Amino acid sequence: MKVEFTCNVCNTRQDKPREELTRENPSCDFCGASVRRRSIVHCLSLALFGESLPLPRFPRAPEIAGAGLSDWPGYAVRLADKFTYRNTYYHQAPKLDISAPPAQFEKSLDFLISSDVFEHVLPPVDRAFQGAFQVLKPGGWFVLTVPYSREPAPTEHYPDLHKYQVVHVGGRYAIVNLRRDGRFEVHADPVFHGGAGQTLEMRVLNETELMRQLDGAGFVDVQIHRDPVPSWGIYHEQDWSLPLVARRPL
Ligand SMILES: [Zn+2]
Repeated sequence: MKVEFTCNVCNTRQDKPREELTRENPSCDFCGASVRRRSIVHCLSLALFGESLPLPRFPRAPEIAGAGLSDWPGYAVRLADKFTYRNTYYHQAPKLDISAPPAQFEKSLDFLISSDVFEHVLPPVDRAFQGAFQVLKPGGWFVLTVPYSREPAPTEHYPDLHKYQVVHVGGRYAIVNLRRDGRFEVHADPVFHGGAGQTLEMRVLNETELMRQLDGAGFVDVQIHRDPVPSWGIYHEQDWSLPLVARRPL
């Protein structure tokens, strides 16, 4: 069954088989946005404007300061056109390590976008949630996606990670880690995202842990966006790994 929708990233009409509208599949022929990426724009628009506008119709508001953590260029470029927005990176300029944000970022942002980043930050993940809180102004919005599971407990793959290298030996990957206590440990066959040897998956959160982290960092008004938004081609094939918005209290 084909569904018609407007891609809210680029504001073009699309029609796609319903089964292609999955979290990661690029389901807009014009800009390549996936459901996850359209969800980010939907959540941000509701947070900032109280209504869900397609990104090209956002008002131009340079007084609104925002940042992204390795945001997808498809919306990063358009956000930079509307707001005082900076896309930031862990490994390249402009740099922002969300686990240790520099002082000039403190209380500087009206919104922060982090889409599928927090499963990769170094442990302990608490510091990343605290960092996200720190960089927001009072009343600022945190728009977050992170893959999480329905398991009863979250999984932290490498809680003692300190000084480490990913090694490739005999056709297999492993992590060699020198722990803080001076002991070496080896983790065989780590999980990567974006292809073998690419970005390490550090953890799989669950919803309870996600809520606990947001609460622990001080966030309020946490809202998980569970409902589909057919007009934007947003459907959720599962009831986890959903987009959410949280707020730093005023
Ligand atoms: Zn599009």
